[in-house]
Amino acid sequence: MLEDLFKNVKSRMADVTLPHAAGSGVNIPEDLWFQCPRCRAATLEEEFARNLQVCPKCGYHARISAADRLALTVDEDSFSAFDTSMHSLNPIDFPDYEKKVETLSQKTGLRDAVVTGQGRIDGEQAVVGVMDSRFMMASMGSVVGEKITRAFEYATRERLPVVLFTASGGARMQEGIVSLMQMAKTSAAVARHGDAGLLYITVMTDPTTGGVTASFASLGDIILVEPKALVGFAGRRVIEGTIHQHLPDAFQSAEFQLEHGFADAIVTRADMKSTLARLLRMHTKGGARHG
Ligand SMILES: [Zn+2]
Repeated sequence: MLEDLFKNVKSRMADVTLPHAAGSGVNIPEDLWFQCPRCRAATLEEEFARNLQVCPKCGYHARISAADRLALTVDEDSFSAFDTSMHSLNPIDFPDYEKKVETLSQKTGLRDAVVTGQGRIDGEQAVVGVMDSRFMMASMGSVVGEKITRAFEYATRERLPVVLFTASGGARMQEGIVSLMQMAKTSAAVARHGDAGLLYITVMTDPTTGGVTASFASLGDIILVEPKALVGFAGRRVIEGTIHQHLPDAFQSAEFQLEHGFADAIVTRADMKSTLARLLRMHTKGGARHG
């Protein structure tokens, strides 16, 4: 399914022609450019970073690390992370799984694909979770499921709202049935938090798919989405093969999801922090609790 989902993106990436290759005679290293997977435009990394890692040509909000996301979201020095040393065992003895996790840990500085903790967003206390697609496409295994569950349990005890930035390729196949169990476990924790009358805001980022869409990502009281994010469950080819119908071009885009009532608002990265703070303030101080 993953291959199907990202095949188109990969093939578009392969077609990108960087400006320096067009006879300029100057050979600029490729890592100085961001190649947009949506519109193919190339942007200098420096300009791309200044633009909060958003393509200046088409507005695609690129995938960013959990650290960058937290820096953009929580107030300085206000974040304390939960469960920082939790790491995956190899529940189904998948070949080379430990080695892969270890390599990615060294590369990303993360123990798994989600960072959770408590912090302030423009002064508003919240439990915040951020998934990082650099870690096995932020697939959900036992660690992601357990950390998300514990974050909700903590928020329920402390009567805090939860803000979760989702990004995922789906369940982690290297953990087999254990990864699928995380869907029920996280959903139950979200439900208990909601039953306590507490607010949960989902921010879907590119890509939010598979078992994560089918569980906690879709359960937000308020669902925000970043522009041009891919949001869906199964890949286009899988669905078309099943229902024997052609799907619309915009299918699974953030804009399509908004139009069809799956998301409540598309919010740009530049406006995200102030929007979250406003929503948190309305629900914690205005007495307009949900449920
Ligand atoms: Zn673009």
